[in-house]
Amino acid sequence: MSKLRYERPVLKKMNAGVMNKFGLRTEFAPHTHIDGVAVKKLIENYGSPLFVISERQIRKNFQAANRAFKTRYPKVQFAWSYKTNYLDAICNVFHQEGSWAEVVSGFEYDKAIKNKVPGNKIIFNGPDKTEAQLKKAIENDSLIHIDHFDELFYLIELCDRMNKRPRVAIRVNMDTGVYPMWDRFGFNYENGQAWNAINKIIASDKLDLVGLHCHIGTFMLATSAYATAAAKMCDLAWNVLQKHNRLIKYIDMGGGFPSSNTLKGAYLPGSDTVPSVDDFAEAITSTILNYGFKQDELPLLILETGRALIDDAGFLLGSVIASKRLSDGRRATIMDFGVNILFTSFWYDHKITPAQEFSHHTEDMVVFGPLCMNIDVIRDSVNLPLLQRGDQVVVHKVGAYNMTQWMQFISMRPAVVMIDMEGVDHKIRKAETLEYMEEAEVLPEYLLKHNLSNE
Ligand SMILES: *Cc1c(COP(=O)(O)O)cnc(C)c1O
Repeated sequence: MSKLRYERPVLKKMNAGVMNKFGLRTEFAPHTHIDGVAVKKLIENYGSPLFVISERQIRKNFQAANRAFKTRYPKVQFAWSYKTNYLDAICNVFHQEGSWAEVVSGFEYDKAIKNKVPGNKIIFNGPDKTEAQLKKAIENDSLIHIDHFDELFYLIELCDRMNKRPRVAIRVNMDTGVYPMWDRFGFNYENGQAWNAINKIIASDKLDLVGLHCHIGTFMLATSAYATAAAKMCDLAWNVLQKHNRLIKYIDMGGGFPSSNTLKGAYLPGSDTVPSVDDFAEAITSTILNYGFKQDELPLLILETGRALIDDAGFLLGSVIASKRLSDGRRATIMDFGVNILFTSFWYDHKITPAQEFSHHTEDMVVFGPLCMNIDVIRDSVNLPLLQRGDQVVVHKVGAYNMTQWMQFISMRPAVVMIDMEGVDHKIRKAETLEYMEEAEVLPEYLLKHNLSNE
Protein backbone atom coordinates (compact mmCIF):
# COMPACT_ATOMS: atom_id res chain seq x y z
CA MET A 1 0.00 0.00 0.00
CA SER A 2 1.38 3.40 -0.92
CA LYS A 3 2.04 5.96 1.71
CA LEU A 4 -0.74 8.50 2.25
CA ARG A 5 0.04 11.94 0.92
CA TYR A 6 0.73 14.69 3.37
CA GLU A 7 -1.95 17.30 3.60
CA ARG A 8 -1.30 20.56 5.34
CA PRO A 9 -3.53 21.23 8.35
CA VAL A 10 -6.08 24.00 8.06
CA LEU A 11 -7.75 26.05 10.73
CA LYS A 12 -11.45 26.59 10.25
CA LYS A 13 -13.73 28.55 12.51
CA MET A 14 -16.46 26.30 13.85
CA ASN A 15 -19.88 27.68 13.13
CA ALA A 16 -21.82 24.94 14.89
CA GLY A 17 -24.59 25.75 17.32
CA VAL A 18 -26.94 28.64 17.49
CA MET A 19 -24.83 31.64 18.47
CA ASN A 20 -21.14 32.28 19.04
CA LYS A 21 -19.18 35.42 19.81
CA PHE A 22 -19.31 36.37 16.15
CA GLY A 23 -23.08 36.36 16.17
CA LEU A 24 -25.42 33.93 14.53
CA ARG A 25 -23.72 31.21 12.54
CA THR A 26 -23.82 31.61 8.80
CA GLU A 27 -25.58 28.63 7.41
CA PHE A 28 -24.04 28.87 3.98
CA ALA A 29 -20.77 28.76 2.18
CA PRO A 30 -20.65 30.92 -0.93
CA HIS A 31 -22.03 29.09 -3.93
CA THR A 32 -19.72 30.31 -6.67
CA HIS A 33 -20.11 27.55 -9.28
CA ILE A 34 -22.80 25.25 -10.66
CA ASP A 35 -21.42 22.04 -12.13
CA GLY A 36 -18.08 23.75 -12.57
CA VAL A 37 -19.43 26.85 -14.31
CA ALA A 38 -18.94 30.17 -12.50
CA VAL A 39 -22.15 31.91 -11.46
CA LYS A 40 -20.48 35.22 -12.30
CA LYS A 41 -19.76 34.05 -15.86
CA LEU A 42 -23.29 32.74 -16.34
CA ILE A 43 -24.80 36.06 -15.31
CA GLU A 44 -22.28 37.91 -17.47
CA ASN A 45 -23.18 35.82 -20.51
CA TYR A 46 -26.93 35.42 -20.11
CA GLY A 47 -28.02 38.26 -17.82
CA SER A 48 -29.63 38.39 -14.41
CA PRO A 49 -31.88 36.85 -13.26
CA LEU A 50 -31.25 33.49 -14.90
CA PHE A 51 -32.56 29.98 -14.43
CA VAL A 52 -29.88 27.29 -14.57
CA ILE A 53 -30.54 23.57 -14.93
CA SER A 54 -28.03 20.86 -14.10
CA GLU A 55 -28.40 18.00 -16.57
CA ARG A 56 -26.11 15.96 -14.35
CA GLN A 57 -28.47 16.32 -11.39
CA ILE A 58 -31.54 15.39 -13.48
CA ARG A 59 -29.92 12.18 -14.70
CA LYS A 60 -28.64 11.38 -11.23
CA ASN A 61 -32.12 11.84 -9.74
CA PHE A 62 -33.76 9.81 -12.47
CA GLN A 63 -31.31 6.96 -12.28
CA ALA A 64 -31.54 6.80 -8.49
CA ALA A 65 -35.36 6.70 -8.60
CA ASN A 66 -35.41 4.17 -11.40
CA ARG A 67 -32.99 1.96 -9.49
CA ALA A 68 -35.04 2.29 -6.28
CA PHE A 69 -38.07 0.83 -8.05
CA LYS A 70 -36.42 -1.59 -10.49
CA THR A 71 -34.43 -3.35 -7.79
CA ARG A 72 -37.67 -3.97 -5.87
CA TYR A 73 -40.16 -4.74 -8.63
CA PRO A 74 -39.83 -6.51 -12.00
CA LYS A 75 -41.76 -4.14 -14.31
CA VAL A 76 -41.36 -0.40 -13.87
CA GLN A 77 -41.94 2.54 -16.21
CA PHE A 78 -41.52 6.24 -15.49
CA ALA A 79 -43.49 8.89 -17.40
CA TRP A 80 -42.27 12.48 -17.21
CA SER A 81 -44.91 14.84 -15.86
CA TYR A 82 -44.82 17.62 -18.45
CA LYS A 83 -46.50 20.26 -16.33
CA THR A 84 -43.72 20.04 -13.74
CA ASN A 85 -41.28 21.43 -16.30
CA TYR A 86 -42.01 21.20 -20.00
CA LEU A 87 -39.03 22.95 -21.53
CA ASP A 88 -38.18 20.68 -24.45
CA ALA A 89 -34.54 20.26 -23.41
CA ILE A 90 -35.64 18.99 -20.02
CA CYS A 91 -38.31 16.66 -21.40
CA ASN A 92 -35.75 15.22 -23.79
CA VAL A 93 -33.27 14.46 -21.03
CA PHE A 94 -36.02 12.41 -19.38
CA HIS A 95 -36.96 10.77 -22.71
CA GLN A 96 -33.29 9.88 -23.26
CA GLU A 97 -33.37 8.21 -19.86
CA GLY A 98 -36.35 6.15 -21.01
CA SER A 99 -39.25 8.12 -19.55
CA TRP A 100 -42.57 8.19 -21.36
CA ALA A 101 -44.59 11.43 -21.36
CA GLU A 102 -47.43 12.21 -18.96
CA VAL A 103 -49.56 15.16 -20.10
CA VAL A 104 -52.62 16.94 -18.73
CA SER A 105 -53.64 19.15 -21.65
CA GLY A 106 -53.88 19.22 -25.41
CA PHE A 107 -50.94 21.55 -25.78
CA GLU A 108 -48.73 19.36 -23.59
CA TYR A 109 -49.85 16.39 -25.68
CA ASP A 110 -48.75 18.14 -28.87
CA LYS A 111 -45.45 19.06 -27.22
CA ALA A 112 -44.81 15.38 -26.43
CA ILE A 113 -45.57 14.44 -30.06
CA LYS A 114 -43.18 17.17 -31.26
CA ASN A 115 -40.58 15.73 -28.91
CA LYS A 116 -41.02 12.49 -30.90
CA VAL A 117 -42.55 10.48 -28.10
CA PRO A 118 -44.49 7.65 -29.79
CA GLY A 119 -48.23 8.02 -29.24
CA ASN A 120 -48.46 4.74 -27.36
CA LYS A 121 -45.97 6.09 -24.80
CA ILE A 122 -48.02 9.17 -23.95
CA ILE A 123 -50.34 9.11 -20.96
CA PHE A 124 -53.18 11.59 -21.33
CA ASN A 125 -54.48 12.70 -17.92
CA GLY A 126 -56.65 15.53 -16.70
CA PRO A 127 -60.32 16.48 -16.54
CA ASP A 128 -60.33 18.56 -19.75
CA LYS A 129 -59.80 16.72 -23.02
CA THR A 130 -61.61 18.12 -26.07
CA GLU A 131 -63.10 16.00 -28.84
CA ALA A 132 -60.26 16.93 -31.20
CA GLN A 133 -57.66 16.01 -28.60
CA LEU A 134 -59.35 12.73 -27.74
CA LYS A 135 -59.59 11.82 -31.42
CA LYS A 136 -55.89 12.48 -31.85
CA ALA A 137 -55.06 10.41 -28.78
CA ILE A 138 -57.24 7.56 -30.06
CA GLU A 139 -55.62 7.64 -33.50
CA ASN A 140 -52.17 7.61 -31.86
CA ASP A 141 -53.00 4.70 -29.53
CA SER A 142 -52.20 6.82 -26.47
CA LEU A 143 -53.23 5.81 -22.96
CA ILE A 144 -56.33 7.81 -22.07
CA HIS A 145 -56.97 8.18 -18.35
CA ILE A 146 -60.65 8.89 -17.79
CA ASP A 147 -61.45 11.47 -15.12
CA HIS A 148 -65.25 11.51 -14.80
CA PHE A 149 -68.45 9.84 -16.02
CA ASP A 150 -69.17 12.60 -18.53
CA GLU A 151 -65.86 11.84 -20.18
CA LEU A 152 -66.48 8.10 -20.00
CA PHE A 153 -69.88 8.27 -21.73
CA TYR A 154 -68.55 10.76 -24.26
CA LEU A 155 -65.62 8.52 -25.06
CA ILE A 156 -67.85 5.48 -25.52
CA GLU A 157 -69.96 7.44 -27.99
CA LEU A 158 -66.91 8.81 -29.80
CA CYS A 159 -65.34 5.35 -30.16
CA ASP A 160 -68.59 3.99 -31.50
CA ARG A 161 -68.51 6.70 -34.18
CA MET A 162 -64.82 6.19 -34.95
CA ASN A 163 -65.08 2.44 -34.76
CA LYS A 164 -62.00 2.29 -32.53
CA ARG A 165 -61.28 0.59 -29.24
CA PRO A 166 -58.70 2.73 -27.41
CA ARG A 167 -56.66 1.68 -24.42
CA VAL A 168 -57.93 3.44 -21.31
CA ALA A 169 -57.50 3.58 -17.57
CA ILE A 170 -59.59 5.28 -14.94
CA ARG A 171 -58.24 7.72 -12.44
CA VAL A 172 -59.16 6.65 -8.93
CA ASN A 173 -59.25 8.89 -5.85
CA MET A 174 -59.33 7.50 -2.36
CA ASP A 175 -58.83 8.07 1.34
CA THR A 176 -55.15 7.47 2.06
CA GLY A 177 -55.15 8.93 5.55
CA VAL A 178 -53.79 12.27 4.32
CA TYR A 179 -56.18 15.23 4.42
CA PRO A 180 -57.60 17.19 2.75
CA MET A 181 -58.33 14.34 0.35
CA TRP A 182 -57.81 14.94 -3.34
CA ASP A 183 -61.22 13.76 -4.45
CA ARG A 184 -61.89 16.20 -7.26
CA PHE A 185 -60.08 14.11 -9.86
CA GLY A 186 -61.22 10.69 -10.98
CA PHE A 187 -63.64 8.20 -9.49
CA ASN A 188 -63.88 7.58 -5.76
CA TYR A 189 -62.84 4.22 -4.38
CA GLU A 190 -64.67 4.14 -1.06
CA ASN A 191 -68.15 4.98 -2.33
CA GLY A 192 -68.03 2.44 -5.13
CA GLN A 193 -67.81 4.96 -7.96
CA ALA A 194 -64.51 3.56 -9.26
CA TRP A 195 -65.89 0.04 -9.32
CA ASN A 196 -69.00 1.32 -11.07
CA ALA A 197 -66.87 3.02 -13.76
CA ILE A 198 -64.88 -0.17 -14.27
CA ASN A 199 -68.05 -2.25 -14.69
CA LYS A 200 -69.50 0.23 -17.16
CA ILE A 201 -66.34 0.24 -19.27
CA ILE A 202 -66.19 -3.52 -19.41
CA ALA A 203 -69.93 -3.85 -20.08
CA SER A 204 -69.77 -1.37 -22.96
CA ASP A 205 -66.92 -3.30 -24.59
CA LYS A 206 -66.05 -0.15 -26.54
CA LEU A 207 -62.93 0.65 -24.53
CA ASP A 208 -60.00 -1.59 -23.61
CA LEU A 209 -59.49 -1.16 -19.87
CA VAL A 210 -55.75 -1.73 -19.48
CA GLY A 211 -54.84 0.27 -16.39
CA LEU A 212 -55.73 1.94 -13.14
CA HIS A 213 -54.37 5.35 -12.22
CA CYS A 214 -54.15 7.45 -9.09
CA HIS A 215 -52.28 10.60 -8.12
CA ILE A 216 -53.00 11.06 -4.45
CA GLY A 217 -51.46 14.49 -3.88
CA THR A 218 -48.26 16.41 -4.19
CA PHE A 219 -45.36 16.86 -1.77
CA MET A 220 -46.68 13.86 0.16
CA LEU A 221 -44.65 13.27 3.29
CA ALA A 222 -46.21 9.96 4.38
CA THR A 223 -45.00 6.81 2.66
CA SER A 224 -47.92 5.01 4.32
CA ALA A 225 -50.32 6.96 2.08
CA TYR A 226 -48.77 5.23 -0.94
CA ALA A 227 -49.03 1.82 0.71
CA THR A 228 -52.73 2.47 1.34
CA ALA A 229 -53.25 3.73 -2.21
CA ALA A 230 -51.39 0.78 -3.74
CA ALA A 231 -53.50 -1.67 -1.72
CA LYS A 232 -56.74 -0.05 -2.94
CA MET A 233 -55.52 -0.12 -6.54
CA CYS A 234 -54.59 -3.80 -6.13
CA ASP A 235 -58.03 -4.48 -4.69
CA LEU A 236 -59.66 -3.06 -7.82
CA ALA A 237 -57.31 -4.94 -10.16
CA TRP A 238 -57.85 -8.13 -8.17
CA ASN A 239 -61.65 -7.82 -8.40
CA VAL A 240 -61.49 -7.17 -12.14
CA LEU A 241 -59.57 -10.43 -12.43
CA GLN A 242 -62.05 -12.34 -10.24
CA LYS A 243 -65.28 -10.96 -11.69
CA HIS A 244 -64.38 -10.31 -15.33
CA ASN A 245 -61.41 -12.62 -15.74
CA ARG A 246 -59.39 -9.75 -17.19
CA LEU A 247 -55.88 -8.75 -16.33
CA ILE A 248 -55.21 -5.11 -15.49
CA LYS A 249 -51.93 -4.53 -17.31
CA TYR A 250 -50.67 -1.60 -15.31
CA ILE A 251 -51.10 0.30 -12.09
CA ASP A 252 -50.05 3.94 -12.36
CA MET A 253 -49.29 5.41 -8.95
CA GLY A 254 -48.95 8.97 -10.24
CA GLY A 255 -46.49 11.44 -8.76
CA GLY A 256 -46.40 13.37 -5.53
CA PHE A 257 -43.07 12.45 -3.93
CA PRO A 258 -41.63 15.50 -2.17
CA SER A 259 -38.41 17.24 -3.05
CA SER A 260 -36.02 18.20 -0.26
CA ASN A 261 -37.29 21.78 -0.19
CA THR A 262 -38.47 23.20 3.14
CA LEU A 263 -42.17 23.92 3.36
CA LYS A 264 -43.11 27.26 4.86
CA GLY A 265 -43.70 26.89 8.57
CA ALA A 266 -41.83 23.59 8.81
CA TYR A 267 -39.76 23.26 11.98
CA LEU A 268 -36.89 21.33 10.38
CA PRO A 269 -35.35 21.71 6.93
CA GLY A 270 -36.79 19.50 4.21
CA SER A 271 -33.47 17.81 3.61
CA ASP A 272 -33.68 16.36 7.16
CA THR A 273 -37.33 15.32 7.17
CA VAL A 274 -38.38 14.23 3.69
CA PRO A 275 -38.52 10.45 3.10
CA SER A 276 -36.27 9.18 0.31
CA VAL A 277 -37.55 7.80 -2.99
CA ASP A 278 -36.39 4.39 -1.70
CA ASP A 279 -38.83 4.69 1.20
CA PHE A 280 -41.69 5.38 -1.21
CA ALA A 281 -40.54 2.60 -3.54
CA GLU A 282 -40.52 0.17 -0.63
CA ALA A 283 -44.03 1.14 0.49
CA ILE A 284 -45.49 0.79 -3.02
CA THR A 285 -43.69 -2.28 -4.32
CA SER A 286 -44.00 -4.39 -1.19
CA THR A 287 -47.75 -3.70 -1.10
CA ILE A 288 -48.22 -4.84 -4.70
CA LEU A 289 -45.86 -7.82 -4.42
CA ASN A 290 -47.52 -9.06 -1.23
CA TYR A 291 -51.07 -8.64 -2.51
CA GLY A 292 -51.48 -12.10 -3.98
CA PHE A 293 -51.00 -11.75 -7.73
CA LYS A 294 -49.21 -14.61 -9.44
CA GLN A 295 -45.82 -13.66 -10.83
CA ASP A 296 -47.10 -13.48 -14.43
CA GLU A 297 -50.14 -11.47 -13.34
CA LEU A 298 -48.13 -8.67 -11.74
CA PRO A 299 -49.10 -5.36 -13.31
CA LEU A 300 -46.57 -2.99 -14.83
CA LEU A 301 -45.90 -0.25 -12.28
CA ILE A 302 -45.99 3.24 -13.79
CA LEU A 303 -44.74 6.33 -11.93
CA GLU A 304 -45.38 9.92 -12.96
CA THR A 305 -42.90 11.47 -10.56
CA GLY A 306 -42.32 15.14 -11.31
CA ARG A 307 -41.12 17.41 -8.54
CA ALA A 308 -38.77 14.95 -6.82
CA LEU A 309 -36.79 14.40 -10.03
CA ILE A 310 -36.24 17.99 -11.09
CA ASP A 311 -36.47 20.39 -8.14
CA ASP A 312 -32.86 20.23 -6.98
CA ALA A 313 -31.58 20.34 -10.57
CA GLY A 314 -32.87 23.91 -10.93
CA PHE A 315 -31.19 27.10 -9.67
CA LEU A 316 -32.22 30.71 -9.97
CA LEU A 317 -29.35 33.19 -10.16
CA GLY A 318 -30.05 36.79 -9.30
CA SER A 319 -28.54 40.07 -8.22
CA VAL A 320 -29.13 42.49 -5.39
CA ILE A 321 -30.80 45.72 -6.46
CA ALA A 322 -30.76 47.45 -3.10
CA SER A 323 -30.50 46.99 0.60
CA LYS A 324 -32.59 49.16 2.93
CA ARG A 325 -34.08 49.51 6.39
CA LEU A 326 -37.79 49.21 6.94
CA SER A 327 -39.68 51.47 9.34
CA ASP A 328 -39.50 48.84 12.08
CA GLY A 329 -35.72 48.54 11.79
CA ARG A 330 -35.66 45.29 9.88
CA ARG A 331 -33.21 44.89 7.05
CA ALA A 332 -34.70 44.41 3.60
CA THR A 333 -32.88 43.21 0.53
CA ILE A 334 -34.41 43.76 -2.90
CA MET A 335 -33.52 41.21 -5.55
CA ASP A 336 -33.99 41.36 -9.30
CA PHE A 337 -36.24 38.27 -9.34
CA GLY A 338 -39.81 38.28 -8.11
CA VAL A 339 -42.61 35.88 -7.26
CA ASN A 340 -43.81 36.10 -10.88
CA ILE A 341 -40.90 33.85 -11.88
CA LEU A 342 -40.51 32.09 -8.54
CA PHE A 343 -44.02 30.89 -7.90
CA THR A 344 -42.85 28.27 -5.41
CA SER A 345 -41.74 30.97 -2.96
CA PHE A 346 -45.40 31.03 -1.91
CA TRP A 347 -45.02 27.63 -0.29
CA TYR A 348 -41.30 26.99 0.19
CA ASP A 349 -38.65 28.72 2.25
CA HIS A 350 -36.16 28.57 -0.60
CA LYS A 351 -32.53 28.42 0.41
CA ILE A 352 -30.65 31.49 -0.83
CA THR A 353 -26.86 31.53 -0.94
CA PRO A 354 -24.53 34.41 -1.76
CA ALA A 355 -22.50 33.67 -4.88
CA GLN A 356 -19.34 35.40 -3.64
CA GLU A 357 -17.29 35.60 -0.46
CA PHE A 358 -19.15 37.32 2.35
CA SER A 359 -18.62 38.52 5.88
CA HIS A 360 -19.59 36.32 8.77
CA HIS A 361 -21.83 39.03 10.12
CA THR A 362 -25.37 38.10 9.42
CA GLU A 363 -28.73 39.59 10.05
CA ASP A 364 -32.34 38.52 9.86
CA MET A 365 -33.84 40.13 6.82
CA VAL A 366 -36.77 40.11 4.49
CA VAL A 367 -36.01 39.41 0.85
CA PHE A 368 -38.20 41.22 -1.66
CA GLY A 369 -38.49 40.84 -5.39
CA PRO A 370 -38.39 43.82 -7.78
CA LEU A 371 -42.12 44.01 -8.50
CA CYS A 372 -44.05 47.09 -7.52
CA MET A 373 -46.49 44.91 -5.66
CA ASN A 374 -46.80 44.22 -1.95
CA ILE A 375 -47.02 40.45 -2.29
CA ASP A 376 -43.61 40.21 -3.93
CA VAL A 377 -41.81 38.57 -1.00
CA ILE A 378 -39.26 35.83 -1.67
CA ARG A 379 -38.42 35.15 2.00
CA ASP A 380 -40.20 36.88 4.86
CA SER A 381 -37.45 36.18 7.34
CA VAL A 382 -34.07 34.71 6.55
CA ASN A 383 -30.69 34.98 8.17
CA LEU A 384 -28.15 36.06 5.57
CA PRO A 385 -24.89 37.98 5.48
CA LEU A 386 -25.23 41.59 4.47
CA LEU A 387 -25.66 41.86 0.74
CA GLN A 388 -24.89 44.94 -1.28
CA ARG A 389 -26.11 46.25 -4.60
CA GLY A 390 -24.62 44.12 -7.37
CA ASP A 391 -23.93 41.08 -5.16
CA GLN A 392 -25.13 37.85 -6.70
CA VAL A 393 -27.12 35.05 -5.13
CA VAL A 394 -28.17 31.50 -5.93
CA VAL A 395 -31.67 30.29 -5.06
CA HIS A 396 -31.77 26.53 -4.70
CA LYS A 397 -34.21 23.80 -5.72
CA VAL A 398 -36.37 25.75 -8.11
CA GLY A 399 -36.58 23.19 -10.95
CA ALA A 400 -40.18 22.11 -10.39
CA TYR A 401 -43.27 24.14 -11.28
CA ASN A 402 -41.53 27.50 -11.68
CA MET A 403 -40.68 27.34 -15.37
CA THR A 404 -44.28 26.36 -16.10
CA GLN A 405 -46.19 28.59 -13.68
CA TRP A 406 -44.12 31.72 -14.23
CA MET A 407 -45.81 34.72 -15.76
CA GLN A 408 -45.02 38.05 -17.32
CA PHE A 409 -46.12 40.45 -14.67
CA ILE A 410 -44.30 43.78 -14.47
CA SER A 411 -41.14 41.96 -15.51
CA MET A 412 -40.61 39.38 -18.22
CA ARG A 413 -39.35 35.83 -17.96
CA PRO A 414 -35.58 35.40 -18.01
CA ALA A 415 -33.42 33.00 -20.01
CA VAL A 416 -32.91 29.38 -19.00
CA VAL A 417 -29.56 27.66 -19.36
CA MET A 418 -28.72 23.98 -19.07
CA ILE A 419 -25.27 22.80 -18.06
CA ASP A 420 -24.55 19.52 -19.80
CA MET A 421 -22.67 16.45 -18.56
CA GLU A 422 -19.36 17.95 -19.74
CA GLY A 423 -19.91 21.23 -17.90
CA VAL A 424 -20.83 23.18 -21.03
CA ASP A 425 -23.70 25.66 -20.80
CA HIS A 426 -26.47 25.80 -23.41
CA LYS A 427 -29.26 28.33 -23.66
CA ILE A 428 -32.53 26.34 -23.65
CA ARG A 429 -34.95 29.26 -23.52
CA LYS A 430 -34.40 32.85 -24.53
CA ALA A 431 -35.14 35.76 -22.26
CA GLU A 432 -38.39 37.34 -23.34
CA THR A 433 -38.53 40.63 -25.20
CA LEU A 434 -41.22 43.21 -25.78
CA GLU A 435 -41.55 41.91 -29.37
CA TYR A 436 -42.24 38.41 -28.04
CA MET A 437 -44.86 39.69 -25.63
CA GLU A 438 -46.64 41.79 -28.23
CA GLU A 439 -46.62 39.12 -30.89
CA ALA A 440 -50.07 37.94 -29.86
CA GLU A 441 -51.52 41.43 -29.39
CA VAL A 442 -53.72 43.18 -31.90
CA LEU A 443 -54.26 46.92 -31.84
CA PRO A 444 -57.51 47.83 -33.64
CA GLU A 445 -57.07 50.34 -36.45
CA TYR A 446 -59.13 53.10 -34.82
CA LEU A 447 -56.84 53.08 -31.76
CA LEU A 448 -53.65 53.57 -33.72
CA LYS A 449 -53.66 57.33 -33.28
CA HIS A 450 -53.84 59.77 -30.42
CA ASN A 451 -52.91 63.40 -29.98
CA LEU A 452 -50.33 63.15 -27.22
CA SER A 453 -47.33 63.43 -29.46
CA ASN A 454 -46.06 66.89 -30.35
CA GLU A 455 -45.60 66.25 -34.04
C1 LIG B 1 -48.83 16.98 -11.45
C2 LIG B 1 -49.03 15.54 -11.68
C3 LIG B 1 -47.96 14.64 -11.54
C4 LIG B 1 -46.60 15.05 -11.00
O1 LIG B 1 -46.71 15.34 -9.64
P1 LIG B 1 -45.44 15.64 -8.72
O2 LIG B 1 -46.05 16.02 -7.41
O3 LIG B 1 -44.69 16.77 -9.34
O4 LIG B 1 -44.62 14.40 -8.63
C5 LIG B 1 -48.19 13.32 -11.86
N1 LIG B 1 -49.41 12.90 -12.29
C6 LIG B 1 -50.45 13.73 -12.44
C7 LIG B 1 -51.75 13.22 -12.92
C8 LIG B 1 -50.30 15.08 -12.14
O5 LIG B 1 -51.35 15.90 -12.26
